[in-house]
Order: sequence, then C-alpha cells, then structure tokens
Amino acid sequence: MASGIHIWIVVGLLAAGCSSSDPGVKAVGAEKSSVSQESAPDPEPTVPTGPAVSVPPTTAQPDPAFPETTEPVLPNDSSGVGDELFPDLGNPGLDVTHYDIDLSYAPEVGMIAGRVELSITATVSLEQFTLDQLGLDIESVLVDGSEATFTVTDPELIITPSRPIEMGANFAVSVVYTAGATTIGSSAGVTAGWFPTELGSFTLNEPDGARTWLPSNDHPSDKATYRFAIHLPDGYTGVANGDLVSSEVSSDVTGGERVWIWEQAEPMTTYVIQVLTGPFSVVEATAPSGLLLTHAVLTEDLEVMQPFFDVTPEQIDFFDDFFGPFPLDRYGIAMTDGNFGGAMEHQGRSLFGRADFVNGTLGYLQQLLLSHELGHQWFGNAVSPARWRDIWLNESFATYAEWMWLEQTGHIDLLDEATNNLARRQDGYVATGDPGPNDLFGFEVYAGGAVVLEALRLTLGDDQFFELLQRWVADNTGLSRTTEDFIALAEEVSGRDLTQFFADWLFATDLPDVFPT
Ligand code: ZN
Repeated sequence: MASGIHIWIVVGLLAAGCSSSDPGVKAVGAEKSSVSQESAPDPEPTVPTGPAVSVPPTTAQPDPAFPETTEPVLPNDSSGVGDELFPDLGNPGLDVTHYDIDLSYAPEVGMIAGRVELSITATVSLEQFTLDQLGLDIESVLVDGSEATFTVTDPELIITPSRPIEMGANFAVSVVYTAGATTIGSSAGVTAGWFPTELGSFTLNEPDGARTWLPSNDHPSDKATYRFAIHLPDGYTGVANGDLVSSEVSSDVTGGERVWIWEQAEPMTTYVIQVLTGPFSVVEATAPSGLLLTHAVLTEDLEVMQPFFDVTPEQIDFFDDFFGPFPLDRYGIAMTDGNFGGAMEHQGRSLFGRADFVNGTLGYLQQLLLSHELGHQWFGNAVSPARWRDIWLNESFATYAEWMWLEQTGHIDLLDEATNNLARRQDGYVATGDPGPNDLFGFEVYAGGAVVLEALRLTLGDDQFFELLQRWVADNTGLSRTTEDFIALAEEVSGRDLTQFFADWLFATDLPDVFPT
C-alpha cells in the first residue's frame, strides 16, 4: 500500500518566544496510535533511578570469561582495551568508524533479529580480533564479504578472518544475529540493555548494555557514526539517534512491516545509542538559534509535552552563554512509556520517563532532569570519557549544569546547594576522580562532584572557569578524553600548577571543610 506512508501533522509552535506560524514544525508517526493488548509482552523490568542516587557497593564483579578459555588465544592475550573498571569492554586493535545497523523487532515476542556492518580501521595487524557481545545468537560473520571463522565466548565474539588484516587497513565486518530483549545488571548498580515496555521498547546501554543487543566495540573510547534501519510491525514507530531519513513499507517482507531509517552523522559512543519503538510521533522544530529539534513522544502525549518542548530552547540559550554553542547538530527530548525512574543522555535526544512528565507540570523535578541531560550533550556526548574512571567528566559537569539552571529558575541557590553537599562529602568513602566500578553513578560523582567544580570555580574565578569549560568542549568535541587531559587544560587556561587543588578535591576521599575563598 503506497498511500498514507508519511503522515505529517502540524502540532504547533515549539520555538520559544516565536509568535508567527512556523511551517518547519511537523510531526510524523505510525498511523495507528493504539497497539493490540492481546499479545502484551512480559511485564517490564524496573530501571533503578540513576541521577543523584548513591548506589551501595555490591560484591565484586565476576572474572572475565575470556581469556581463560583454552582456544583461540588472541595475539595480545587480552579481550579488552584496558579499562580497569571494565576489563572486558572494547577490543584492542580496532577503531570502528561506522555502524550500519539493521534491526527487526518483534515486540510481542521480545526478539531482535539483527545485522550489523561495522566499518573498522585496524590499528595493529590482526590475525584475529574480538567484538563485544553478551548472550547473542550469532549466525554468520563476514569480513570484507568473505566468510570468517568465529567463536562465541561471552562476553566476546572472537573472529578469525580468512586472511590477516594489515595494520592501518580499512575493513568491513558483517554480523548476522538474534538477541532476546534483555537487560543486565552492571556492577555500577544500574540495569542496562534493551527494555521491553507495555507499548514498545527502549535502550539504555550505559555503561555496558549495548553488547546485549549489538555486537560492537562497546567502550566510550571508540566513537563512530551510525545508520539505523528499524523494521517494525504496523502501528509502531522506530526512533534512533540523529535524523529521520525515511519511513517506508518494507519491500522485502509482507504484512505491513515498516522500516524506519535514521542517520547519526556525528561521532557517538555505544552507551548513548537510542533505539525506541512504540506508538511515537516524531516532532521536528527549529529553535530560535536555528538549531534543529527532533522530539519523540507518544502520539497521545503530543499536547501535554508542549511545555517541555518549549523550555528546551530556553535551556540551550542559557547554557550556551557558559559552555559555548550547542556542540551537536541537533537536540530533542524523548519520553518512553517504560518504567524508567531516571533519565539518560542519549546523544542528540535525551530520554526521560513519560511518567515523570505526563501531568504537564514544569516543576523542580522536570527542570532538574531536562537540564541535567541537556548538560550532558556538552559534557559526555560532544566530549566523551576515555575510560569509565573518567565518569565525573560526565556526571559532575551535568549536575553542575543542572544546578546552574535550577538557580536560574529560582529553585535553588547554587552556593547553598554546593555548601550543603560539601557537608555531605565528609565520609571518606570514594574519590570523585576514582570512584571504582560500584560507584560510577554514586553521590561522589554526581552532587559530590559538582562540589568539586564549585571549588574549582571559586579557585579560578568565573572568567577562567567558564573559559576552561568552553575550551574543553571546543577543543575536544568528537573525541574521548581523560581526567588528566582536563587537568592539563585547567593548568593551561589558568597558568597555574593545580596539582594540589586536584589532589585535595578530585582525588581525595575526605574533602576540605570549606570552599576556597
Ligand atoms: Zn547524568
């Protein structure tokens, strides 16, 4: 059926403060806004609240299954890129430049049938290499179109190409697989992976869940571009990062299946991949600054979400004075129907739980969540952490951004907030700059780390502090960076030796009693 493929609905003005009609505002979604309840999937898992929640330490993580296996043995005897907190993650010798992802999701059975083609540059010569995967059913692996030998040993897919790959060579790996829509509990105390919901699904990969549904180089040190083709039954909209290129009735399958194609043209880590399915409308608008806005909300929520569409350009306009121009080519907000008690900074379109927003009130919680995830677009997405130990470069900065906006909107006084949280820091638990795997998303990294940034601001003064943040983003967008890189830039911008400052505030478990004056 060719008719009614694209439905474009004018839903109203999104650009804050704009009073003339704006033909650039449109919404597109699946034709059917209701989904049969007859074949509802299993009850969804609960996602623990992320931001600002201190997660108690858990028991030690299990040893990596690899390289204890007897065969095959990798040249460098290691399956990971050397992240001390997550030794399995990432794959030595690989620089993935692009993921071409083709997924068919069957919501009623919770199964994903996938094919991914990775464009890779070999950074060393490779007789064998690994990709991260956990629990996938791998059907075939091609390297440059030729069948390759492979072994699946969770959490790795070990691939032996028919001919060795030379250092510096560009090659393509194509993997065909199936996956159950499942989640894993990470040692960081959060749940990650592919979450079925009542009306569809969402991904929340941080820190190590992408590998449960996508064979990948699942480490933030390796950023790549992406193309997503999401095949779904009639009535479901597929949403992913970037730009909606097309939504068409699939030619290769009968029965009303539709394929949604999205392109993510800017470098991105695997942990911020967004794939949503459900009765969504995609709402496109242009902010007064000219920035493209692409939101995704349930069609039934289009009106009630308007206050949150409206405040988004206001928040961007506030932050760009301090952090520099919005660093990505687009932004938006997405609202899952899933039981999601937190929020996630999916690149270019942050994810929130609809339940926190559906009454339409723009209060403290909504301002907090919206500003925090927006702040991550500068801190975490434009500039990504090189190792999970560098997580404060994400969370402390996003929390600081959140405090700035909460002060701007009259909800808090930033210095009071920082002072109260400094008092809470006197516990000798973990350092913001070295939280260990159990506290990646704990108090010391969130509010306790925003305290560190307030101390830095008071030490450097506003001019140098915001010059530092702007330089950090301007110089490093598209890259993954370490804490040491940040410290070096702080010393360059200030012309000071800040060794003692960072020892006292970032790497200490017991902080000074009072802020510098
Ligand atoms: Zn955050």
